Amino acid sequence: MNCHICTNATESFVHGRTGIIYYHCKACEYIFKSSKYHQDLTAQRERYNLHENDENSVGYREYFKRFLDFVLPLVEHPKTALDFGCGRSSLLASMLDGEGIMCDHYDPIYHPKKLNNSKQYDLVVSTEVFEHLHQPREVFKSVLGLLKKGGYLALQTQFHPNDTESFKKWYYHQDPTHIVFFRPKTFRVLCDKFGCKFIDDNGKNMVIIRKI
Ligand SMILES: [Zn+2]
Repeated sequence: MNCHICTNATESFVHGRTGIIYYHCKACEYIFKSSKYHQDLTAQRERYNLHENDENSVGYREYFKRFLDFVLPLVEHPKTALDFGCGRSSLLASMLDGEGIMCDHYDPIYHPKKLNNSKQYDLVVSTEVFEHLHQPREVFKSVLGLLKKGGYLALQTQFHPNDTESFKKWYYHQDPTHIVFFRPKTFRVLCDKFGCKFIDDNGKNMVIIRKI
């Protein structure tokens, strides 16, 4: 199986307990589940409905605050933003609004009609979305189309440990809707492919990319 990001050959391994097959690209450090274990939209929706995204919870607000604390100092005072794949909640969008950044939100399941493909933004944020994507390279490219030249893309997805045994013990792939896993290197390769600049990562779960 070739890598869906960089097309190099991958190495496969099987998770002993679940029997799920994974493919690991050593070149761009991308790992993906065999498509046999990908879920259809109905199953995904049922799973997402279990997510506890309570807008009134202090924890949820704190969670987005950690993201914004990393992102906002590294992007140059955006005026407009889009929360791409916001889920049910528009909390992150309203927190960006609170920072003086006019923020739209879009989600293919919960807010599917809110994306205006002709509009371009200074900043696109996307938290806990990329690990769900069947075609992350294609989505990455289309998200870049939503950015102005010089605009920023800020993503949050947990970086995998890049080691087979550690990966098997890792919690993040146990969510059946999490099917693809990244490291900063993976995003650097995507940046090279699509002519963007990799700005920074936090070593854990956040990256910032600039469209040039
Ligand atoms: Zn690769």
